[in-house]
Amino acid sequence: MLRGRVVVAAVAAGAFVAAGQSMAAGEGNPGTEHDDFELASNDAAASFGTAADSYTGMGGSAPAPEVLPVAQTTDGSAELAKLNRSSQVTKALAQEEATRIAAEEAAKRPKIVSPAAGRFTSGFGGRWGTTHYGIDIANAKGTPIVSVADGTVIEAGPASGFGLWVRVQHDDGTITVYGHVNTITVSEGETVKAGDQIATMGNRGFSTGTHLHFEVWNASGKKINPLPWLQERGVSVA
Ligand SMILES: [Zn+2]
Repeated sequence: MLRGRVVVAAVAAGAFVAAGQSMAAGEGNPGTEHDDFELASNDAAASFGTAADSYTGMGGSAPAPEVLPVAQTTDGSAELAKLNRSSQVTKALAQEEATRIAAEEAAKRPKIVSPAAGRFTSGFGGRWGTTHYGIDIANAKGTPIVSVADGTVIEAGPASGFGLWVRVQHDDGTITVYGHVNTITVSEGETVKAGDQIATMGNRGFSTGTHLHFEVWNASGKKINPLPWLQERGVSVA
């Protein structure tokens, strides 16, 4: 569009020069000066017709003064400035769009997810004369274990009974615990999003088979039943 205008302007400038030359040629013969000028204008109009379809139809009646305002746009630097402004506006709009899409994606992202794929093998509560403070999900060694919610890794390493564990603290103060893991794939202090892998499933510590031992500690530090906690947040693992 802009390029088209520049081409048209260049043609117009050429036509005007041609008209001027015709005027000069007509000097000394006032009687024919006007006719020559009209003829040159007609040529200019014809050039317009071929340069840009939008100008077709001006025909031979286009007088020379019509060309003058167009000549202003032959200022190449002004056209470049317009292009630059246009490019900056385009960039700003693209950035706005990217920000909007990112916000939409974040809104769509689940707040709570299951900590691991697998078979639910043990629930929270009394077991073997003691209390089982979490739930167990069994699957093959190396199965990815993910943070159930956004949070910060507050501990990642050895823990008595758990072999290796990862603890993640969430925005509301809740802490989730992932035990018996085979490998840890995050570091203490790292920020994680719901669904980010933090470890792989293993059989370390006091464990009788490859599984994830998952606990939920509420903001007061009380170990609560993870099943209803997950279910209330739309996640079913059993
Ligand atoms: Zn367990």
